[in-house]
Amino acid sequence: MLELDDITAGYDRRAPAVRGAHLSLRPGESLGLLGPSGCGKSTLARVAALLHRPDRGTVTLDGHTVTGFFHRAPRSLRTAVGVVFQQPRPAADPRLRLRDLVAEPLRATGRRTEAGPRVAELAERVGLGADLLSRRPHEVSDGQLQRACLARALVLRPRWLVCDEMTAMLDASTTAALVAVVEDYRAETGAGLLAVGHDPVLLDRWCGRTVHWNEIVKH
Ligand code: ADP
Repeated sequence: MLELDDITAGYDRRAPAVRGAHLSLRPGESLGLLGPSGCGKSTLARVAALLHRPDRGTVTLDGHTVTGFFHRAPRSLRTAVGVVFQQPRPAADPRLRLRDLVAEPLRATGRRTEAGPRVAELAERVGLGADLLSRRPHEVSDGQLQRACLARALVLRPRWLVCDEMTAMLDASTTAALVAVVEDYRAETGAGLLAVGHDPVLLDRWCGRTVHWNEIVKH
């Protein structure tokens, strides 16, 4: 289970972006989180991905209470969650060729030797040709870079996936392709998905269950 219990989080303790949020996700489940822009969804998604320390509340991941966030999160928990953000460019090191960007988590966890075959397999899944893998972020489109960012999120085979407005900047065909990649991965591995967004049509089509921001926070 991925459980967020009574999470208060933000950037100013006097005015938190998220107040008292509860969310729980079962393995294999796809949960959509819907809410208007600015309500705090990304902040909560970053807490769920162990990238942002909440001011209050508890995150429990596969039975472990998380006590460290961001670089203080234990590697075994950090690598259990893959995350894809709305904007691929700030999430991508501009110096890396796409093949190295996808392989980055393998290198960071001392598994560099697995990179060759794993990157090739994921590139095919997400629809990145060999020519694109040799390019750097400024030489590809947003959609192509987002494909690479999704491949990077899957490279360690996470048990949980957080997609924060993953398709908001993409055209309809790239959106459909990337949602299909996530769904194939979920069907194959039993991973749980938290998909954050503002488009009810997309989330209803994509996710088994959708909750609205108002249902998960204190008022
Ligand atoms: P959503 O994802 O629903 O659009 P966010 O979680 O991005 O909402 O933002 C919630 C609130 O926190 C907004 O008022 C936003 O301006 C603010 N916020 C987001 N990121 C930061 C940051 N890095 N520093 C300060 N305030 C931020």
